[in-house]
Amino acid sequence: MGLLSTGHPLSWKASQPYIREVKRKGIRQFIHVYCATKNRKDDCLRWGDEVEYTVLHVDKSRRKMSLSLRAPEILQELQKQEHSQPEGSSVEVLWRPEYANWMVEGTPGVPYRCFAGDLELVEQNMMLRRLEIFSVLEKNEIVLSITAFPLLGVGNFTSPTEPVLGPASLSLYVPDAAINPHPRFPTLTRNIRHRRGRKVDIRRPVYQDEKTDREFPVLPRCLAHQNGCSGGTNSHHSLTNSSTTDSEIEKEDMLDLEQLAKETTSDIYMDCMAFGMGCCCLQVTLQAKDMDESRYLYDQLAVFAPIMLALTGATPILKGYLLDTDSRWDIICGAVDDRTLEEMRHGPRKSRYDSIDLFVSSRKEMIPERYNDVEALLDEDSYRMLLENGVDERLAKHIAHLFIRDPLVIYEESMNAQDEHSTEHFENIQSTNWNTVRLKPPSLESNAGWRTEFRPMEVQFTDFENAAFAVFTVLVSRVIIAFDLNFYIPISLVDRNMKAAQCRDAVIQQKFYFRRNVFADNSHVPDRFKCACGRTHKPRFSSSVQECCLTACSSCSDCEPMTIDQIINGKSVDELHSNHNFAFPGLISLIRGYLDAIELPPESSVKIGNYLDFISAKAKGELLTTASWIRKFVCNHEAYRHDSVINELICYDLLKAIHDITSGKRIESELLGDFYQGNGECHEISAEMLQEMRTKVEKGPTLMASKDIFQRLHNLASLSDDALVEMEGRVSSNTEYS
Ligand code: ADP
Ligand code: MG
Ligand code: MG
Repeated sequence: MGLLSTGHPLSWKASQPYIREVKRKGIRQFIHVYCATKNRKDDCLRWGDEVEYTVLHVDKSRRKMSLSLRAPEILQELQKQEHSQPEGSSVEVLWRPEYANWMVEGTPGVPYRCFAGDLELVEQNMMLRRLEIFSVLEKNEIVLSITAFPLLGVGNFTSPTEPVLGPASLSLYVPDAAINPHPRFPTLTRNIRHRRGRKVDIRRPVYQDEKTDREFPVLPRCLAHQNGCSGGTNSHHSLTNSSTTDSEIEKEDMLDLEQLAKETTSDIYMDCMAFGMGCCCLQVTLQAKDMDESRYLYDQLAVFAPIMLALTGATPILKGYLLDTDSRWDIICGAVDDRTLEEMRHGPRKSRYDSIDLFVSSRKEMIPERYNDVEALLDEDSYRMLLENGVDERLAKHIAHLFIRDPLVIYEESMNAQDEHSTEHFENIQSTNWNTVRLKPPSLESNAGWRTEFRPMEVQFTDFENAAFAVFTVLVSRVIIAFDLNFYIPISLVDRNMKAAQCRDAVIQQKFYFRRNVFADNSHVPDRFKCACGRTHKPRFSSSVQECCLTACSSCSDCEPMTIDQIINGKSVDELHSNHNFAFPGLISLIRGYLDAIELPPESSVKIGNYLDFISAKAKGELLTTASWIRKFVCNHEAYRHDSVINELICYDLLKAIHDITSGKRIESELLGDFYQGNGECHEISAEMLQEMRTKVEKGPTLMASKDIFQRLHNLASLSDDALVEMEGRVSSNTEYS
């Protein structure tokens, strides 16, 4: 998670004199990178996924699961191999820390490449990750890919049990011992609170079941948890006399508590960063050909983000209650919202964790007056510096908008360091703007080019599902580029889609604004595209796709509310009322046309086709989303009293069921159809096998690229000369995707 500099982080108060300086230096660093890389051209597609995992402690005899706080130790074990690698060689999996001590993050050891065959490596690599973690767990631990532990913040939910009300978070529910010990994390937690002037205050609506209390006091239940019923150590007395009340700010937080004690609510109340940043997600990063393509992808994927948030929704429970929402997004927005009360009224519209406010592409399709239709504040100093140094207006606005946020963690050491060639101060601001998409300029330290990170997705239970969503994202990005798709709608409507995406059962209940005609040319479906391999490919589309162009442009408005089924699977003209009569091709048809055109080899077609069929079924509502499946499991559990409350037993059985689904022991056809039958091969995969598969993709018939692509691959991926010569010999018969 973000930048992990070392040193002594400053308190919020001590940071004050440096804030302006960090911003100025950060902008200078960005300008330096921009000038050095704005004309960088012809980078190959490279990409990678990130999956966050949760480590759990299992007490079989008491049928209780809790969050194991051993992630730092586990991570040390997992990283041993990486750290002992000889210079220049790589591992199959990279392990990275995350916010909470129950989380670890895994990514492929080297990014995937532009070969169609690489799409097949994803699931295998994810399986290997699970095996690697598994090998370092203790006997009573398991690992799951779930977004949120259902009893996060309820009673003794960590293993070991630790006291709450730590100085970083002052949380009534989550101990500071759950925060990653790297100084960045507790400092972020405390400084967000101090900047804000009060603790974070996250509310989410409780799902109203037959016997759910309509109204309950905010505090008593939580205090009850801490006081006795779950064996915690703090009483109300100790809260108000806590030794952490030293500073003025902390005293104010305690006053809040008195206020809270008077409130009643029908929402769940959460009071610290861990409720949000302790949630796990699935992300995909894509390297673009150049800056222009990266900015264009950024915009298109920002519009696509709410669709994927809805499809992957997996967070119907938090803090021991069924929620009336299905996803983590707004919980995290609240968990790191550092705006002061005054700023809430007159400052930035959103938390620093939220969907984007500005499209950034300078292509002609992007009409700023129409699409950038919400007010986005700019840091005026930064904006001026950027313009003066030749950054174009739209990119300058994007960066200056990121820089309205203050640096939350400043290291004493970094203020004196020589930093012209570092990007530390820029990254400080960039990496604490947690948006649905992130535009990443090339790195000065590695070979990485302009990249776009896609960040909305919630993590799924199985490697199969996570691979399917990651691969689908990559393929959507490929059709966007191949067919010059235009997804632009006003940002205000993207915001509305983000809200819709989080509603309960959003996939089947909600409509999402989407563009009626996504093709660059209003009058015809693209019949050819030139890909990075240098060849022109000719996609064949079904007649329904052809029909779309003829109907889509006859309308006054360029976008329309559609169901996710329509967006993903398409719709024909006769479905709707006559004045809304238009057809939509559906993204899957476009992907199929694309795969057909690049002549995806039959062996890859089966696997990729299965992913597409799975996503198509999810979008149709034929399969439950992860959130709906969890909700259903709870509602059918014999210990559930239809009061929206999740107890330890329900939690245990739910997590055990998820564990069994992951390992293939339990078949859940409502969730997975017959697309996935369990990880039969899981125990057979090894790093060596993966390496072999990667080499096979390189050398085998699934690859096609022109000579200059090979040369670039050679430069980037350090292929051996032999491999290069061999590949060049195969150019004509192989497949590569742009
Ligand atoms: P962050 O910490 O900001 O999330 P990282 O730089 O650690 O980002 O990389 C995250 C993801 O980017 C991983 O999935 C990784 O495989 C992928 N990645 C790394 N290098 C590249 C690259 N050159 N192009 C595209 N993706 C890359
Ligand atoms: Mg992460
Ligand atoms: Mg990331």
